[in-house]
Amino acid sequence: MLSQALEQGRLHHAYVFLGPDGVGKKTIALALAKAVHCGEAARDYCGGCANCVKIDGGNHPDVRLIAPLPGKKEISIEQVRTLEKELNYRAFSGKKKIGIIDPASLMNLSAQNALLKTLEEPPADSLLILVSASAGGLLPTLLSRCLRLSFAPLPASDVIRYLIERKSLSPDQAKLLASVSLGSLGRALSASMTELAGQRAAWIDEMTAMRQNAGWAALAEDLAKDRVEAIQFLEWLAEWYRDAAIYLVMGDAEWIGNRDLLDKLRAQAEGITVDDALRLRAAALETAARIRRNVNRRMALENIFADIAGLAARD
Ligand SMILES: [Zn+2]
Repeated sequence: MLSQALEQGRLHHAYVFLGPDGVGKKTIALALAKAVHCGEAARDYCGGCANCVKIDGGNHPDVRLIAPLPGKKEISIEQVRTLEKELNYRAFSGKKKIGIIDPASLMNLSAQNALLKTLEEPPADSLLILVSASAGGLLPTLLSRCLRLSFAPLPASDVIRYLIERKSLSPDQAKLLASVSLGSLGRALSASMTELAGQRAAWIDEMTAMRQNAGWAALAEDLAKDRVEAIQFLEWLAEWYRDAAIYLVMGDAEWIGNRDLLDKLRAQAEGITVDDALRLRAAALETAARIRRNVNRRMALENIFADIAGLAARD
């Protein structure tokens, strides 16, 4: 869609790219910037010319990438004003001035209001791309002035193929990372995902112990320390109970994500019903959503652990 708009000279002056982390929003934003400026390819980019190389290196005079400054949590109004000023200069290349703001949701309110003024009267030949995991945190008036493109999680088969072909992972490793990364190639490639893959066995052992002696408080306390890790754990837990449901219905099946931990999965699944597994999967996702909305993490984790431990009490 973007390359067609580029070819027809009908690019919008502002876009917002929305979708989960690690599915390629920033990659596409930079690809579009390269396609606009590439000296070799028409409606696409070559990746090797001076313009493409400068954009990849972050030092093309007509392309600005805005993120929080080192050590800062927000994108400030000064950063937005500087960008606005630059967008108003004529492009060195005679093509477009491009600003990419990622993550746009980290602009504070005054920065967003400043940007709103730019969007109301966009400078000639400027292109602004806002990148964000969700529309939450962005002013509705800002969103309404941008053309919205939604990015979906990638199909597991695509993530698996990429990991095997481009990263030389074994099919089992690739399936495992694809399963724990939930359709995000960025997450599959991150070190924390590899860590997560290794972490699962320890979590499962703690959950097994929890079912035996209701000692879940320590795990809840530990996970509650870090919001990102708590969410990562709960998303994995949802996958784990999805795997348990698949195991209970089908026996060993190739769709089981945590295949390398089949023995542990079997041991846990045998004590529960398919309904239990599906209910706990839903509870894990709901708890992750609540933690995203900033509820008390420890309490939310203790609730779901009590639920898991309750299954043992029933046995
Ligand atoms: Zn090029």
